[in-house]
Amino acid sequence: MLQPELKTWLQCLDCERSYPIDEVVFSCQCGGLLDVRHDLSLIRQTPAAEWKEHFAGRMGDFSLKESSSGVWAFKEWVLPGLPPRSIVSLGEGRTPLLPVRGYNEQEGLELLIKQCGVSHSGSFKDLGMTVLVSHVHALRKAGKDIRMIACASTGDTSAALAVYAASAGIPSCVFLPAGKISPAQLVQPLAAGSLVLSLDTDFDGCMQIVQEITKDSGLYLANSMNPFRLEGQKTIAFEIALQLDWELPDWIIIPGGNLGNVSALGEGLLMLRAAGLVERLPRICVAQASAADPLYRSFQTGYAGFEPFPAKKTHASAIQIGNPVSYKRAIRALRALEGFVETVLEEELTHAASFFDQYGFFHDPHTGVALGAFLKLKASGKIVRGDRVVVISTAHGLKFSEFKTASVLGKIEGGLANLPVDLPADANAVRKVILERL
Ligand SMILES: *Cc1c(COP(=O)(O)O)cnc(C)c1O
Ligand SMILES: [Zn+2]
Repeated sequence: MLQPELKTWLQCLDCERSYPIDEVVFSCQCGGLLDVRHDLSLIRQTPAAEWKEHFAGRMGDFSLKESSSGVWAFKEWVLPGLPPRSIVSLGEGRTPLLPVRGYNEQEGLELLIKQCGVSHSGSFKDLGMTVLVSHVHALRKAGKDIRMIACASTGDTSAALAVYAASAGIPSCVFLPAGKISPAQLVQPLAAGSLVLSLDTDFDGCMQIVQEITKDSGLYLANSMNPFRLEGQKTIAFEIALQLDWELPDWIIIPGGNLGNVSALGEGLLMLRAAGLVERLPRICVAQASAADPLYRSFQTGYAGFEPFPAKKTHASAIQIGNPVSYKRAIRALRALEGFVETVLEEELTHAASFFDQYGFFHDPHTGVALGAFLKLKASGKIVRGDRVVVISTAHGLKFSEFKTASVLGKIEGGLANLPVDLPADANAVRKVILERL
């Protein structure tokens, strides 16, 4: 039996003030970001081999138990104190880690795609949302006055919030920048019955307003400044470790916008090492679209400063963020993991997505940014033959069908055009076209 007494609490990144885990608080009194902290000395009391066996056993469980979710399989390292009956799961996590067959053999390296977008609402945001909504569910049962969950979003966060909140029977409200998200992303919260507010501003503007509104009690903030989301996203690191038999790769490349996901990935990796489940850590690379790359600019100065700026338009709309909430957390992770930051132009992200689609994928533009960074790291000799590289794919390509359509029709720079061939219903005409291709 693993220790039931594992402890968690909230702690400020800046002043280290701590708060009980069940206090409804989104940032510290000093204005700093909060982390969910775990007592690693208690976690270390269980031998690494026992943890490995325990987690692998859960991940091998295909029953309908909540703990067979890819997030809750790691419950002791996510939210040990949550009553199991409060878990709100939609089967998140347990996503494939796929080698790019053909390309890898040709290039003499091992590129693996972690398909986090193969998920209930079509993006990795499900991993964090199951934890946040489960936590709120438990708080409500314990009598806290929370009447609605709210978030600002570039599309995927709101889709995830809407479905998890609906599943829990909790009302939700999402703040979206008008005209800046894909139709699929707009339809998801509408279908789930969420109150959808389309604001005449950008993501950063929506973020400001939702923070203002959630100061009033009764509304709970679901953006990733809320650290409960990151606890779920941390399991990306745990799944990769398990899928690679506890041997982490040389590099992990991840697209970054608000920078919660890279922070979570970093925390997960450090936790694995602190508990002795892995020895060697990978280098991490955050990939940003050049239209919205404040972290890249800060990296260029050795993180001497951090200057937010209004993000310009990018195909990678979910990372069109000029003032990322979690930049301090991200820099902490990058410093701990020999981090690197790369910037990718629009035609580079489009090309990278199209190029790797030819190996049997269907990459969304954000994964295109990460793959573009991969190609740049390889061209500059940072990634070499023999390296094992994991690229985090953050969304399902089908959520970004306008981008994919424009790309195959050759309507955007960098796309590999492949047009449908219009023919009469005539076998000879069809045969002629096919023979030309063979
Ligand atoms: C949210 C999101 C990102 C960026 O994650 P951050 O935590 O904001 O850095 C990347 N890709 C997709 C598809 C997303 O929805
Ligand atoms: Zn503080």
